[in-house]
Amino acid sequence: MTAWTVKDVALKKIHGNGNDQYKLLYKYRAELMRTNSGTNVKFRWKRGKWKGIYVCLKALKEAFKAGCRRIVCIDGCFLKGPYPRKLFSVVGIDSNDCIFSIAYALVDTKSTATWTWFIENLIEDLEMHYRGPRVQVAGMGTQFIIDLNDRTSTCRAWKLSGLPCIHTIVATYQNNEEPESYVDECYHVSTYQRVLWRDGQKLKN
Ligand SMILES: [Zn+2]
Repeated sequence: MTAWTVKDVALKKIHGNGNDQYKLLYKYRAELMRTNSGTNVKFRWKRGKWKGIYVCLKALKEAFKAGCRRIVCIDGCFLKGPYPRKLFSVVGIDSNDCIFSIAYALVDTKSTATWTWFIENLIEDLEMHYRGPRVQVAGMGTQFIIDLNDRTSTCRAWKLSGLPCIHTIVATYQNNEEPESYVDECYHVSTYQRVLWRDGQKLKN
């Protein structure tokens, strides 16, 4: 046996077999819902194939609603190993300025469809009753918070120019919307026409 094989055998003994663990997902879901009544666990299916799981524990969602600021930060990361899936997570910030976990999901790909699925579940759990959520977007070593309702980004570029900055564009896609719909009215063709055209007549000169 090579050292590599021995290591592999040892790791399997410690962590178990991934295939077998995936088979336990139904039991895992049942157990979470039994022990945390009100917990939301959803599976994502596509053409009969298992494509993801979303988990929002009842205790966490209630605590978020009871005591956290109404800001949620959303992020996704890649997972290594034999199942290279994506982990989506959403956190709030508690009264002590600490990260407060709210929900997470494991999906097969990072796409508009999977983000939409994740956000829709979240909206339902947090009863956000859609009014344009705040979204946190990572920039060059900094995090920016975009408020689609107030049309502001903490990088301040959006308010200044009236054109969605790069962070806002990311936030609109995460929100399943088009960035064009957030361009300031002063850039609209209709505004231009209203300013320069009167009664269908273009102002001379
Ligand atoms: Zn920005």
